[in-house]
Amino acid sequence: MAATTNNGRRTYECVSCRERTTTDEFLGECPSCGGRVRNIAVPRQQ
Ligand SMILES: [Zn+2]
Repeated sequence: MAATTNNGRRTYECVSCRERTTTDEFLGECPSCGGRVRNIAVPRQQ
């Protein structure tokens, strides 16, 4: 299985609109625009 963060959640950032989604499930696309997302280990500060 894929590695998870210490709280079991993963944060994904959309490469198109930069929407961030934190989930414990696989996220295949951006829920906002349907674009591609990438898994980021630690969310950056705004
Ligand atoms: Zn998006």
